[in-house]
Amino acid sequence: MIIGLTGGIGSGKSTVARAFGERGIGWVDADDVAREVVAPGEPALDAIGEHFGPEVIDQDGALDRAALRKIIFEAPEQRQWLEQLTHPLIRERIIARLENIQSGPSPYALLVSPLLFESGQAVLVDRTLVIDIPIDMQLSRTLERDGVSEANVRAILDAQMSREERCARADDIIDNSRDIAHMQHQVAQLDQHYRERLSS
Ligand code: ADP
Repeated sequence: MIIGLTGGIGSGKSTVARAFGERGIGWVDADDVAREVVAPGEPALDAIGEHFGPEVIDQDGALDRAALRKIIFEAPEQRQWLEQLTHPLIRERIIARLENIQSGPSPYALLVSPLLFESGQAVLVDRTLVIDIPIDMQLSRTLERDGVSEANVRAILDAQMSREERCARADDIIDNSRDIAHMQHQVAQLDQHYRERLSS
């Protein structure tokens, strides 16, 4: 069984995934995988460099994300080119990681993805779990974590799926608006629920 864990920026996806991890549950972070497939030495990075030119590669030979973002923001068809290159690679690697977890001791696996519903990755999972907090809390927790500007976070919030729509699509929801203990209690209950589903 694979559980897709999602939520908006700063909702607590990583924090909740770690809480499942403490209970012996393995997870794959789709954002980590997305970064890995364009790391130095990966064929996708070479293809990106050839397509967009040296200005998207920084001095250390890594992807200059800001430069690439600027290009694809101004030319949407370039975003499409990039996604056609990277999405199948990301998907393949996610599937391999999930299979690896499922061949180990973890009774089920989590796929942690901010864009679970938007990216089509939801087809990879059996159930979805949304981490939910009010928007003002998303804003304050993200600002505290990242030290970025409020306008920056608001732009990301505006581009993401609405809280209502995400929750409407969820099989399960964790309310992460209170303290860590309150979140951990819900994780324990869900973990038990998932284990029971597997054995029934
Ligand atoms: P996401 O992965 O969804 O972007 P994080 O797990 O990084 O979110 O959480 C965002 C920030 O909020 C982090 O700094 C984290 O430590 C903090 N956080 C998460 N859950 C709680 C909570 N229940 N109470 C207080 N702070 C929290």
